[in-house]
Amino acid sequence: MSTAPDHPDAQEYEALLQFMYMAPVGLVQLDADGAIQMLNPVSAQLLMPLSRDGELINLFDALAPVAPDLRQQCASYAAPQGPICDAIRLYVHADDKSGGPQVMSLSMLKLDADRLMAVLTDVTEQDRRERQLRKTDAWLNAIMTNISDYALVSLDRQGRVESWNESIQRVTGYQAEAIKGQPYARFYPDGATTEAQQLDRLREADENGWTLDEGLRQRADGSEFWGSAMISPLPARADDTAPSPVPRTDDDPAYCMIIRDISDRRDLSENLRKAAYSDHLTGLSNRRAFFEAADLELTRRLKAVRPVALLVIDADHFKAINDRHGHPAGDAVLAHLAQTMRSVCRQVDVLARIGGEEFAVILPSVALDDARVIAERLRAEVVRTPALYEQQTIAYSISIGVAVMDDTLTGFDGLIKRADEALYAAKRRGRNQVAIWQNPAPEQA
Ligand code: GH3
Ligand code: MG
Ligand code: MG
Repeated sequence: MSTAPDHPDAQEYEALLQFMYMAPVGLVQLDADGAIQMLNPVSAQLLMPLSRDGELINLFDALAPVAPDLRQQCASYAAPQGPICDAIRLYVHADDKSGGPQVMSLSMLKLDADRLMAVLTDVTEQDRRERQLRKTDAWLNAIMTNISDYALVSLDRQGRVESWNESIQRVTGYQAEAIKGQPYARFYPDGATTEAQQLDRLREADENGWTLDEGLRQRADGSEFWGSAMISPLPARADDTAPSPVPRTDDDPAYCMIIRDISDRRDLSENLRKAAYSDHLTGLSNRRAFFEAADLELTRRLKAVRPVALLVIDADHFKAINDRHGHPAGDAVLAHLAQTMRSVCRQVDVLARIGGEEFAVILPSVALDDARVIAERLRAEVVRTPALYEQQTIAYSISIGVAVMDDTLTGFDGLIKRADEALYAAKRRGRNQVAIWQNPAPEQA
């Protein structure tokens, strides 16, 4: 890079460069047209997932997909120097496996007529926390302003219903006495949550002060409604005579749970959220939702080890199906495959479309033997029920790779890699089969 024309002290300038290089945030110096003059390692790391060809030449070009008007904004900044923009959020959603940030913060500074400076930081985590908080705020506000639609129960340490207010019958249809001592999963549809997940949420509430989830809930008569549920820990029982709070016993109320029926408020924002997280062809989770779910499952697993299995599924000879029947028929086959996956899997499983004709399933609390059975059931079901498109029957098959999380793996990437290896083994062996990842080589199921 060239020396600064208006900097008299070369040594001081060197020190500045050194600082920039080492800075824990991403710093990029560019000219007025966006051509990159200098970038430090952190910025290279942040920007690389955005570069299509592995090269970073022009910052405006690199950021064009996420900040299309940046060039214009910089060009129209009239002052000789000063801040052009301050901490704007860029939603990158680098939803490949690059591990790049999903949300970046960008500030632009005009140094002089020829030089701009960009400051970049990865704020993915912060953004996620803020969104969560906003959600909670909105939620609590709604309770304060409309107190007719929620049911309140207290739970013991194990998550069993301890006491309730009268609204429980209005919201869930349960006679209060009927649910005493029942696990709170009673308000969820069968199979929508596992015991391990229920305990996770109690632990989450202990750590964060609350936990909130939204989804289908079940009434006493088995009918379902769209509801949200918040659980928060109750303060320790105070006792005037004791110097410190009395230790809780297992039977004491430990958490408060509020369930709201929000069926009529699945508003625009919910639709937007859905659009951002689901695949429009199949209605399954998209890659972004898939990786977020994987992340959550693994984070929870850190606190309470339990099995997690992954299936990676690829349609066999799909190119030939498109060629023979046409692309729309191919689409119908993919939708059919998604439907078959739904019919075989549980509600708590995460079903996702992670590529064109590639799918994946996260199976929480499922060990290898059961994962193999589920995969085999899915494979057989696809063969048994061909897809239908405009009165044509289209027979097709799938290959499945299976892997389970273990202590030799540190992250989800490793798990996917194993399931992928197993998938390729299934393909090599002739397709329409399930292969389990095994060290050193995957073996036939
Ligand atoms: P293999 O058994 O080895 O998986 O063979 P394949 O033909 O399925 O594999 P390949 O990866 O060569 O081809 C995948 C094809 O899937 C190519 C692409 O045109 C098609 N495809 C990808 N996404 C879609 C989609 O959304 N709709 C349709 N109809 N076809 C798609
Ligand atoms: Mg493929
Ligand atoms: Mg294929």
